[in-house]
Amino acid sequence: MTSPLDPVVESVHARAYRIPTPAPEADGTLEWDSTTIVVVHIRAGGVTGLGWTYCDAACVPLITGTLAPVVCGRPVLDVPAAWSAMRRCIRNLGRPGLASCALSAVDIALWDAAARVAGLPVARLLGRVHAEVALYGSGGFTSQSVPQLQAQLDTWVHRQQIPRVKIKIGECWGGEPERDLTRIRISRAVVGTGVELYVDANGGYTIGQARRVARHLEAADVRWFEEPVSSDDLAGLAELRGATTVDIAAGEYGYDLSYFARMLGSVDCLQIDVTRCGGYTEWRRVAALAAAANRDVSAHCAPNLSAHVALATPNFRHLEWFADHDRIESAFFDGALDPAGGQVVPDPAVAGHGLTLKPDIDRFATA
Ligand SMILES: [Mg+2]
Repeated sequence: MTSPLDPVVESVHARAYRIPTPAPEADGTLEWDSTTIVVVHIRAGGVTGLGWTYCDAACVPLITGTLAPVVCGRPVLDVPAAWSAMRRCIRNLGRPGLASCALSAVDIALWDAAARVAGLPVARLLGRVHAEVALYGSGGFTSQSVPQLQAQLDTWVHRQQIPRVKIKIGECWGGEPERDLTRIRISRAVVGTGVELYVDANGGYTIGQARRVARHLEAADVRWFEEPVSSDDLAGLAELRGATTVDIAAGEYGYDLSYFARMLGSVDCLQIDVTRCGGYTEWRRVAALAAAANRDVSAHCAPNLSAHVALATPNFRHLEWFADHDRIESAFFDGALDPAGGQVVPDPAVAGHGLTLKPDIDRFATA
């Protein structure tokens, strides 16, 4: 039975948008010229909840055809129950990949709707532990020219006062190691000594290459070596972790709790992507798993969504302010946060996560 105090989910809507990048972009192991975002809206009790994932438009029929029927009619405040029902219904599709991204977007929209029904920010509904969320500037694509790299780093550090930055290395699957080292030296020169400098190889190196690069990272006081080798090579990550003082990080392709449990012993900091792992519901379980192993977690991408659950995560280190997603989220959503100063504080007076889709983005819709 529906009561005004316990509204049920009335509808689930999904739409995909494809946004071209300003120029072709690349990291160590992938090139791209556009980004696809799948946006979910949920209606319940007179409010609209919003969620999204960065994935393929194939998520849309998965959400509207498979997940929506098991979510509609459920009390919107019982998000974990809806989450469990979604997880059960995708058993034969396989949890990782598209299915988990679709589930994540719906879960986030459900938490947003529940918080709006309760008249609370998402972070208050989850229960805050931090007053603000530390972040780092992330970009430094291998496709950039040196002046472009210098300009991006200069903007983050000197204009926006962000004290942590990350660049991509491992160019061409580790085929350009000298250029990688040159770009690290240039980056340190631009940001100066007081700023934390991180690198991400996106799994581009062999273990031997990664070991040799790590020596240069130590010399340049680089604190974070992300996916030095493939994140599927847990033994390689663990070996490297034992051979360097630089923190080893991975986890962005984690789609379920068991994946993170297997990875924990191989990394210093576990990265969680809230739009892949299973939304806020699974994020909190992954963070608890990491806490039990005395590890921090860091948010991978989707900065405006991650900020809210980060406030409620005790062992949270920092949030990746990824350049592509910053550009898209600022263009698509009213209420997007400003990374200036190196930390964000979601507005405590706004219900839900405080983000709404702008009306003028139809031209980016894929269908
Ligand atoms: Mg990465």
